[in-house]
Amino acid sequence: MNPWLWTYEGFRPAEEGQREALCTLGNGYVATRGSLSESSADGVHYPGTYAAGVFNRLSSEIAGRTVTNESVVNLPNWAVLRCRVEGGAWFTLDDSDPSTHRVELDLRRSVLTRHSRMVDAEGRVLELTERRFVSLRDPHLLVIESTWVPCGFSGALQIQSALDGTVTNRGVPRYAELPAQHLVHVDAVPSDDETVLLAVRTNDSDISIVEAARTRVSVGGRRVAGRRSTDVADGWIATEVTVDVADGEETTVEKVVSLYTSRDDGIYSPRVAAIEALAAAGGFDELLERHVTSWAHAWNRCRLDLTGEVGHTERVLNLHLFHLLQTVSKNTTELDVGVPARGLHGEAYRGHIFWDELFIFPFLTLRIPELTRSLLRYRSRRLDRARDAARAAGFAGAMFPWQSGSDGSEETQTLHLNPDSGRWLPDASHLQRHINAAVVYNVWQYWKATADLEFMRFWGAELVLEIARFWASASTYNHSLDRYEILGVVGPDEYHEGYPDRDEPGLDNNAYTNLMAAWCLVCAFETLDLLPASRRGELIEKMQITHEELDRWGDISRKMRLCFHADRDATGGGNGTDGGDGTGPAGEILSQFEGFELLQEFDWDGYRERYGDISRLDRILEAEGDSPDRYQLAKQADTLMLFHLFTPEELAELLERLGYDCDEAFFERNLRYYEARTSHGSTLSQMVHSWLHSRLDPEHSWQLFHNALASDINDVQGGTTREGIHLGAMAGTVDLVQRCYGGIGTRGDVLTIDPTLPEELHQLCFSIVYRSQQIDLQISSDRVTIRLPEDALRGAPVDVDVRGRRRVMRPGDTFEVEIR
Ligand code: BGC
Repeated sequence: MNPWLWTYEGFRPAEEGQREALCTLGNGYVATRGSLSESSADGVHYPGTYAAGVFNRLSSEIAGRTVTNESVVNLPNWAVLRCRVEGGAWFTLDDSDPSTHRVELDLRRSVLTRHSRMVDAEGRVLELTERRFVSLRDPHLLVIESTWVPCGFSGALQIQSALDGTVTNRGVPRYAELPAQHLVHVDAVPSDDETVLLAVRTNDSDISIVEAARTRVSVGGRRVAGRRSTDVADGWIATEVTVDVADGEETTVEKVVSLYTSRDDGIYSPRVAAIEALAAAGGFDELLERHVTSWAHAWNRCRLDLTGEVGHTERVLNLHLFHLLQTVSKNTTELDVGVPARGLHGEAYRGHIFWDELFIFPFLTLRIPELTRSLLRYRSRRLDRARDAARAAGFAGAMFPWQSGSDGSEETQTLHLNPDSGRWLPDASHLQRHINAAVVYNVWQYWKATADLEFMRFWGAELVLEIARFWASASTYNHSLDRYEILGVVGPDEYHEGYPDRDEPGLDNNAYTNLMAAWCLVCAFETLDLLPASRRGELIEKMQITHEELDRWGDISRKMRLCFHADRDATGGGNGTDGGDGTGPAGEILSQFEGFELLQEFDWDGYRERYGDISRLDRILEAEGDSPDRYQLAKQADTLMLFHLFTPEELAELLERLGYDCDEAFFERNLRYYEARTSHGSTLSQMVHSWLHSRLDPEHSWQLFHNALASDINDVQGGTTREGIHLGAMAGTVDLVQRCYGGIGTRGDVLTIDPTLPEELHQLCFSIVYRSQQIDLQISSDRVTIRLPEDALRGAPVDVDVRGRRRVMRPGDTFEVEIR
């Protein structure tokens, strides 16, 4: 099995949307779905092109309310390329034998190749071979080469190479009632003999987008002018070329498109830049070579080599890495953008940025730390906006939005549609304040892996401190308990938005939120400590942080409330304790939120029997007139996220600081309890559970890992992949191999390596960047070999710990440890 090749045989209309998403080509600046060049949006096909950070807002009336949504914008379809016999109908796959169609995605080179035998309405047959790429090296260039061969006929072939700005955002059926027209026509003009240009503008954010297309045609290997004309309409321009071809003779069309927007830096105008980029662009082969070289460099940095019974696993991991690197790349570091949860691969979640960074950054930080740095700047640039949001909600500090788009405003929808019931429902998921802890966690992980003091001084520290201040202001003191509480939030488990008997949404004392808030406050003190005194003084002055405030932060970080309840699974289903304020003694469960254990147990078996797939219990229950709020269930890892983000020692330390005991079986008990109550309605969930089982039950971990790997390739949520990939699960599975199975950790100033390879995985080889040093790792079940290349940067020596064996390594050093 070639681990670098992803192939689809035959044309299957029902699967086309999923294929389009998985065959998306992108370069961190722009991405285009792998739809057929002759297609347009019609229920089977959905051509989509999205540029990082290009958003637009539209308002409409829904269920009696005015709702405004900000969406990533579907840009003019640059890839339209089709042909017909003069006077005939376009060649398509509609009347063709579907088995003659084949698509190959070359992951190593990021080239999409297609072979089809197409038939027109008159039964004429044409063979097509198409190659396309979205240049990693020249991020504004998108390229297609199509070669057509008539089979059994000769005549005049009319080629159409268009830029289609009439596209709308119609990629997600659930949003069908919302307005979708984001673009307005500006201009469509020929620019020279072989080039046409289309300019459009977003109708609210006022971003200009210009595409220019150069179309060249060869017949039988010789470049021909052909009979050319231009077809122009509002939002549309096409070059049409007619050439005479003989039976069996090749006609090759090379279409090179440049794309610029008014958000780009270093240009005079998108129009001038688009024209100049095409004038400077070489031909297909030259552009391809540049692109492939850049991909080779990207893979040098990012590849994971697996040995063992892992052919399929490695191939899927390569696909996941590939889509990660297409969504964010070196090109992204030049932009002011975050990392969208569904990639640049579709319109689900409207291109928004969530806490999924938490699952995406760890891999990037150890491979391309420059990229994490620039993605963290997306947050720091929006710090003032987060300060305003906190103030508007009655808090201090900075409160980042659960869903973020262009300017860092809260973009979470206020109403969402349940397709099962057809009802529009109020949405309280914006109460997921834990996003703020994710921002701090990401800054801190970056700091630990890079020791990038400049970043911390300039941006990182202020983010941490302002978020700490927010948590302190969101915590209320409960006199009777002498503890702090955080009330009225939603945890990662979005199926619980409130209490069944309370009108207002929000839950109290979500364990994940409370513990992360306490951790953020501890982190704020460590942040102040790491800063040089002068900068510390400046920040304290700028933010007007007082001694009293710091005392309060310290107090909260020691007295945040967590709720515990009895382990009913172990005690045979009793009624639990009061769900109150245990000190976490042996046998207790950390309650997902206050009162979780008072909710009804859910009839898992009954619902599985009735519905089969019950991952989307929210929709199922709402359609039944019921609500998940009434039951002990979870969409995804919530409390268990704590065991994912912290090592058992780190967690025990945090609990101890809060005055809670934590016995040996605490972790396993909680894992068992919540796993039995989790529906895995998010693709993030099984990945986290796999991580948690890696040491307890490797076989189960491997199974869950493969379930997570299947998320998009098998479209396990039944139709969501076509709306965009699940980037958190994609990056998270790759990270799982690197940091969980590979056992890579950053603790204080030490790089720790404590592998836990599943039986099927015999060896793992990869290179990371830690504190500016390249480190090559070879990990097998009985040995770890660490090398610092001779020519590594002359950075600081690296302190490495392999299961308690410690070594300070310098460039040229090798450290080999038996680990059986
Ligand atoms: C999950 C969230 C996630 C979002 C975007 C939701 O289904 O519950 O945790 O952030 O998808 O991926």
